[in-house]
Amino acid sequence: MKTPDLLLVDDDPGMIQVMARALSGLGRLRFATGGEQALRQMADATPDLVLLDGDMPGLNGLEVCRRMKGDPQLAGVPVIFVTGQNSAEDELRGLETGASDFIAKPISEPLLVARARTQLRVKALTDELRAMASTDGLTGVANRRSFDEALAREWRRQQRSGQPLSLLLVDVDHFKAYNDHYGHQGGDACLRSVAQALAEARRRPADLAARYGGEEFALLLPDTDRDGADYVARRILELIDALALPHANSRTAPHVTVSIGISYLDQIHADRRPVGAGPITPDESPEALLRAADIALYAAKQAGRARACCLDMLDVDSPQRVRAARHHGRTRPADLDEPA
Ligand code: GH3
Ligand code: MG
Ligand code: MG
Repeated sequence: MKTPDLLLVDDDPGMIQVMARALSGLGRLRFATGGEQALRQMADATPDLVLLDGDMPGLNGLEVCRRMKGDPQLAGVPVIFVTGQNSAEDELRGLETGASDFIAKPISEPLLVARARTQLRVKALTDELRAMASTDGLTGVANRRSFDEALAREWRRQQRSGQPLSLLLVDVDHFKAYNDHYGHQGGDACLRSVAQALAEARRRPADLAARYGGEEFALLLPDTDRDGADYVARRILELIDALALPHANSRTAPHVTVSIGISYLDQIHADRRPVGAGPITPDESPEALLRAADIALYAAKQAGRARACCLDMLDVDSPQRVRAARHHGRTRPADLDEPA
């Protein structure tokens, strides 16, 4: 388990010292002597627990807590109010704002430690559950739900920033035949290896590898244009080639291969309009990005599998515009070659 990160907030440095001494065994400690400073610290790195003085000049504790609960990044961070205002109403107000617990000053150090420890335990469990809920149990990559969320999020970000966005759909070739020959458990092991290769092919922390469904995977590549997406697709084809998983039943190759559909919302396209100008066509949506990748994937299958094809998202209604990806694995098809 990672070392918990605690943020102690109080305008009285003496009070911070007392709390720091008591809590030093529970994790890494950071400090802030005001509400604004506390929020800045949280923006730098999300803490696992915040001990918050209710009564501070400037931004008070209640307001800090309210802002935290309104911020998706911080909403799940438990807050313990440590405050001199210890009437039932004050406590109620703190809890209603979203605080997890309430400790009255003057504090009892053992009580402070016990309550902080409880909140950290709950936080660790919640983090674990959240990670499980977004991970595909078989392969360990992100599941369909977190892919859908990431696509919606990156799409909104793209609309604001005008940066390119690319999507790869990766489908295992002749996988039904693989299951028939190696059994369902063999099939499962194969899916794990393919997922591993996808995770390896990512270039940046923001790239997301996910199981889209069955034997189909998705790779979402923010700030990545067509060339970047082609490059990642080639890496995937090479990594799967290198795995050399025997596939006795494949009509494509003696080993497991994948086909890849690429779609992209390119910089060239993004440059055509001012930032924040909204969609160019009614078709411009994350669904169109998915549909274009699906059309490209189908074309890659039709062209002989074990290859990547791509389609500009804006050409989603012109499937004849599907092209072979510019960079290919060893199985480059002559019939889909682009002019140099
Ligand atoms: P193509 O080359 O055209 O993609 O053919 P295919 O056989 O790979 O495609 P098809 O969609 O006909 O078959 C997909 C198979 O994937 C059928 C299904 O039993 C298998 N499958 C889906 N999910 C799992 C899984 O979690 N584990 C295993 N072992 N097999 C799975
Ligand atoms: Mg398949
Ligand atoms: Mg499939």
